[in-house]
Amino acid sequence: AKEQGGDAYQFYTKSMNERVLERMLLENSLRQAIDNNELVIHYQPLIDGTTGRTVGVEALVRWLHPERGLIQPMEFIPLAEETGLIVPIGEWVLRTACAQNKAWQDAGYPPVVMAVNLSGRQFRQPDFTGRISKVLAATGLAPEYLELEITESIALEDVEYTIAILKELGAMGIGIAIDDFGTGYSSLSYLKRFPITTLKIDRIFVQDAAKSQQDAAIISAIILLAHNLNLKVVAEGVETPEQRLLLRERHCNMMQGFLFSRPLPAEQVASLFDFCW
Ligand code: C2E
Ligand code: CA
Ligand code: CA
Ligand code: CA
Repeated sequence: AKEQGGDAYQFYTKSMNERVLERMLLENSLRQAIDNNELVIHYQPLIDGTTGRTVGVEALVRWLHPERGLIQPMEFIPLAEETGLIVPIGEWVLRTACAQNKAWQDAGYPPVVMAVNLSGRQFRQPDFTGRISKVLAATGLAPEYLELEITESIALEDVEYTIAILKELGAMGIGIAIDDFGTGYSSLSYLKRFPITTLKIDRIFVQDAAKSQQDAAIISAIILLAHNLNLKVVAEGVETPEQRLLLRERHCNMMQGFLFSRPLPAEQVASLFDFCW
């Protein structure tokens, strides 16, 4: 038994060291990823629930690693958040996505809203709203074509700060969405205090909505709540025609999910702007 314990300990420390080493290597290469042009953005359409047209896209970052290939955000965003690298990465995404949206408009595509994810660190950067308006000025994108997505946990970390920033962004004409709605604290009292424009229902509720009465009831309640507060609702993770029908019946404003399209490179997604689902 003693020997076994020793082996287990050795195995444990070895894998710990390996993990630490791998993390350091990953951090180092992530540091250079922006300069080396290894980050790419894929865009996923947001579909109008009634017309079936693409009215927006969400910018989703990927890392095209020279050796490992395409790395999904879940594998590097947490590390980027820990190390603070999320700030330059987030600013790169914001600038690139805004420039892309302006380029589509200049090329004559029907205009869409660009949704960009924010991390907590980015949101709490000094002069955050000043940085946003500089990006809009530099890219020439009109503010009504930008929507910033924050999670409930980011918003609730410092409520007074959040309200002040959201008011400034709102006054600038920028949309604000609460992302992954229903998975965080979901303190309903803040909803009327935060000057937001959109709620995004997390895909865990959409997933089983056509099978589970409870999930369907939660979706109905979120949509009613949002509409009574004059907010638009986006359902995430729509994968089946049944889910789409259920959401349509409940007057969900917008839908996003693999049923319509996966996140795609800029050239491919633009060809869907004229398409009607
Ligand atoms: P999110 O903001 O909730 O983005 C939606 C995620 O759901 C995306 O994953 C998207 O590909 C996925 N998705 C869309 N439709 C479906 C569907 O029908 N079924 C399923 N199973 N999944 C669907 P992705 O691209 O892997 O991004 C994961 C998360 O990484 C995002 O979740 C967001 O939290 C974060 N992220 C991505 N890009 C950025 C960024 O530029 N900045 C920050 N701070 N976070 C980002
Ligand atoms: Ca999002
Ligand atoms: Ca989400
Ligand atoms: Ca999510």
